[in-house]
Amino acid sequence: MSQYYFPIVLVFLMELLRLVHCNSSGPQQRRAQVEWQQPEDNWNIQTVPRSVHPLLENQHNDHQLPPTSYQMIDSNNHDEKLLKRLMEIKNNATGRTLFGYNKEESHLPPLLTKTIKYFNLQQVAFELETSVMSQVSCTACKAGAGLLQHYIKSGKSKEEIIKTIYQYCVNLKIQSPRVCEGVSQLFGVEVIYVLKRVTIGPDEICSFIIGDACGDIYNPYHEWEVDFPPVAKPEVRELPLPKEAAPVFKVLHLSDTHYDPYYAEGSNADCNEPLCCRLTNGRPTTPNGAAGKWGDYRHCDTPQRTVDHMLNHIAETHSDIDFIIWTGDLPPHDVWNQTKEENLNVLKATVKQMSEKFPGIPIFPALGNHESAPVNSFPPPYVQQVDSSISWLYDELDVQWRRWLPASVSHTVRRGAFYSVLVRPGYRIISMNMNYCNNKNWWLLLNSTDPATELQWFIYELQSAEFANEKVHVIGHIPPGHSDCLKVWSRNYYKIVSRYESIIVAQFFGHTHFDEFEVFYDPHDLSRATSIAYIGPSVTPYYDLNPGYRIYYVDGDHEDTTRLVVDHESWIMNLKEANLYDYPIWYKLYSTRAAYAMRGLRPVDWDGLVNNMTDNKELFDLYYKHYWKNSPVRPDCDYECRKRILCDAKSGRSHDRKYFCEDVEAKIDENNKGWKEWIFSSISSSASHHSSAGPVPDTSSGGGGSNNPQDQLDADTIEHQHLIAQTVEESRYQPSVQRGSG
Ligand SMILES: [Zn+2]
Ligand SMILES: [Zn+2]
Repeated sequence: MSQYYFPIVLVFLMELLRLVHCNSSGPQQRRAQVEWQQPEDNWNIQTVPRSVHPLLENQHNDHQLPPTSYQMIDSNNHDEKLLKRLMEIKNNATGRTLFGYNKEESHLPPLLTKTIKYFNLQQVAFELETSVMSQVSCTACKAGAGLLQHYIKSGKSKEEIIKTIYQYCVNLKIQSPRVCEGVSQLFGVEVIYVLKRVTIGPDEICSFIIGDACGDIYNPYHEWEVDFPPVAKPEVRELPLPKEAAPVFKVLHLSDTHYDPYYAEGSNADCNEPLCCRLTNGRPTTPNGAAGKWGDYRHCDTPQRTVDHMLNHIAETHSDIDFIIWTGDLPPHDVWNQTKEENLNVLKATVKQMSEKFPGIPIFPALGNHESAPVNSFPPPYVQQVDSSISWLYDELDVQWRRWLPASVSHTVRRGAFYSVLVRPGYRIISMNMNYCNNKNWWLLLNSTDPATELQWFIYELQSAEFANEKVHVIGHIPPGHSDCLKVWSRNYYKIVSRYESIIVAQFFGHTHFDEFEVFYDPHDLSRATSIAYIGPSVTPYYDLNPGYRIYYVDGDHEDTTRLVVDHESWIMNLKEANLYDYPIWYKLYSTRAAYAMRGLRPVDWDGLVNNMTDNKELFDLYYKHYWKNSPVRPDCDYECRKRILCDAKSGRSHDRKYFCEDVEAKIDENNKGWKEWIFSSISSSASHHSSAGPVPDTSSGGGGSNNPQDQLDADTIEHQHLIAQTVEESRYQPSVQRGSG
């Protein structure tokens, strides 16, 4: 069949399917949970133009793949000049050397203090920030939603409600007064707009937003399934390893720049607001409270000079990159006072800088959750009120992105900020707007059913790619398995990846700011890995992180190309040393195949790595170091943390950890138990050994504060472990200059 016929055939099949599917399960038929008339959407996938001419020139740069034997960075290779510089600056260092919280004394009336304690608001703030939700956030969410709904029902005006939100925020010391004011003004309007129109109660609202941690309440209104064309899934063939020494593409992955135009060196970095290190934060109250010159490990984003330095370093060190993927989050975290204008300025400035630094190199962008103002607010096309339409952003994205993308993308970028581009013959990139799965996007409470028809379009693109024998790389911002991604959207996405596993050979996301990955599995056979999502590290150090970026080597143009990622490297800058010596150095932290002794980077190899890390703590520790981009202020990882991180790696589908992680968690629990028993038995055997030479100790009465020797032992071994970890940590982070090996 000629490739020109398949779109027609596909459209016919989809239409047929739609008719057969008829209207039995549409949300319109269900009990009304929204008192709101949704405008009709006449968007027709058939009218979407497709990119069919390869965007990338037919030329291959010669790339040197990373060596496969792990070469440790020679930490003895000190640079004399730098050491001299260290002596000069050491006493004036502004970088963060200590960390910890200055807990302010509470001077609140007893009732408020009780309320804060009851709702554990500090914990809620922490959970909101880290997206690791628990029952605590669920309780606070229900209380907040219930209160708002009560005010709306009792006829309070929008202005009155916003004022009340502000008062709660200030009185409960949730944020500083100016942050409270900004947040209640910015978010209040649309939250009230949405809550006025939904009829579901706090339980359903919070279960929808928070997911698993807030009960799994069945809500038929937010249950939906995408339609697949009646084309059988091709037989799955085992993926071969990419051919060694075949041509490759070298790809740069930048994510989460969070460039802060108002970053000010020496300003207060310890400010108790969501974003510090700005002129408006005033002077630091302690010498250690000053914002570093090249950035800061505390709640601070990326200074202009660090972005410039990184891009210059990349342009010099990687002059042979073939194209760039750029997975969003450009503006800073000052979410309480952002305006549309300011965010558009950041977009325009960063796009301009990128095109100047990398002339002639195609860049494939994806939209972050911070690009909108207010943050996370992405009204789907059905929200057409002038003030709430998102076209102010999508129209500008079309203008800005079009310098790298073909004209055919305009149609879908303006509708939903997603697009599909043919990069080389047989090789396509699809950029997804992940904000329609973002659980902090309040508009989705009105209707979460495949917003902007994005997933249905995704299927259409993938089916067309399958017909045309193309391999696809998917890029986006929020990883589909992250808890920020709505369960129902994530479930549909997972199904799509499963159906098209043979052509989606890699996925690339950002958002978490960590250096990590997610493996996808056959939903009917969890032992079979089907896909891999790479989660690239952030440029911003926000927070407790070093800045970083990734380089991928992608199987290039040759007869047996798989378009798989052959290897990848993570590059970082040690922020502490940069501030200490006033000399930032970007270096390769690791290359994957060598670091983890992997044969290749196929889904099966990544699954193997997760299994190996479950059994091998040393290997996990290495991964954990890379995960934090070798940050010297990273926290210790106990076995609960290890379970969480390995479970993340197995979760390509959100809010389904029980299903994916049972095995891994049980294994770690088992290993942990075994380890404790081993210590206990070895100590008791040594005790009995001693006892044989002396009087028999009286074990019946117990010696110390605890009557249970196991308890005492646990406390001792934990303390011991802690001491060891501390010593290792201290010796590891002696000021030394680490140099990249590449
Ligand atoms: Zn981000
Ligand atoms: Zn993000």
